[in-house]
Amino acid sequence: MKHTVVLIPLDNYEQQNVDAAVAQGLSLLGGVESIIGKEEKVLLKPNLLARALPQKAITTHPAVFSAVCKVLKESGYAHVSYGDSPGNPTTTPEKAAEACGIAAEARKWGVPAGEFNTGSVVHFPEGETCKSFYLCKAVQETDALVNVCKMKTHALERITGAVKNMYGCITGVNKATGHAHYPNSEVFADMLADLNRCVNPRLHIMDGVVAMEGNGPSSGTPVNMNVLLMSLDPVALDSVFAGLIHLDPHQVPTCVSAARAGLGTMTYDDIAVRTPDGEITMEEAREKYGKKDFDVFRGEMKKSLLAKLMPLLPFLQHRPKADMKKCIACGVCEESCPVPEKAVHAGNGKKAKYDYKKCIRCYCCQEMCPAKAIEVYRSPLNKLLGGK
Ligand code: SF4
Ligand code: SF4
Repeated sequence: MKHTVVLIPLDNYEQQNVDAAVAQGLSLLGGVESIIGKEEKVLLKPNLLARALPQKAITTHPAVFSAVCKVLKESGYAHVSYGDSPGNPTTTPEKAAEACGIAAEARKWGVPAGEFNTGSVVHFPEGETCKSFYLCKAVQETDALVNVCKMKTHALERITGAVKNMYGCITGVNKATGHAHYPNSEVFADMLADLNRCVNPRLHIMDGVVAMEGNGPSSGTPVNMNVLLMSLDPVALDSVFAGLIHLDPHQVPTCVSAARAGLGTMTYDDIAVRTPDGEITMEEAREKYGKKDFDVFRGEMKKSLLAKLMPLLPFLQHRPKADMKKCIACGVCEESCPVPEKAVHAGNGKKAKYDYKKCIRCYCCQEMCPAKAIEVYRSPLNKLLGGK
């Protein structure tokens, strides 16, 4: 059976037009009731990367977010909340939501903000690349996560769409340390695939009315793509996005990793592109709705062999390091370490001592240290070999 990606043409953010487009798209997907039970706790996860005005195309447009709220509320969903953890730890979710206009729409629909400032370690032993995530509290408490992502370019992964948007389920500074831990596009994408398997979003809605090209995900240029995309399959959705900008999804690490992890398909023969005028092929979609000159990195990724080997070579890796002058021997790092046999020992008068062979580089210890004694250490050799 083919994986459906709904494509709704839409060339403006007039609320009534967006409302109609979102309602029509969800109907073409089988109706929201076929995807989420009425009694379930629903969490909307827009892209709230930064404190930015909607027209900058950094964040999900509030009109799209509002239209999703409208469908859910008018369909009788009583437990709906929303949130995201912005990229910069000094920007709170509340400030980002206010700046981009999403908080106002949420208030209009009586949709409260979920807790994205705090979280805890969630173990995911099935993970191939990452076996634990520091997930926001709201994400842990939801039944049905709804991904309301933005169509943008991304410096590391070429594009950010459905798969990448789940990174905001991780709390504040842990996202930065995640980047430090997964130093190239392939391993970072592998981690994102694990994260998507862990948080398991139920539905994906992509705002591609005005997308971002060039130096994304926050410093690029808004560009009209004039589509909303929806799917239950994040890989198929991102692959259709890639197709529309004339990019082979095999060049998109998040598509490759997520497909390999079983999250969906990037094979166009297995994807049904459903529009209000009927089903079309990806070739037809590209012809009718695509943008050949979309500014996205189309070259080869830098593939340093040593950079790829870095995760396998402990002495090359980034690692947590405690400053003995600042350490107060409180033991919080040991308590917060998710490794069962503990990769750091401290407390009872003993300062932090690491066992890097056991350490999975999750940086929970660094997040929790009350004395700010722990930093992410990168050796000169690591820097030299491209651990940027
Ligand atoms: S949490 Fe920080 S201050 Fe406390 S023992 Fe660990 S490194 Fe030292
Ligand atoms: S020592 Fe720190 S970074 Fe390493 S596994 Fe434990 S909490 Fe994570």
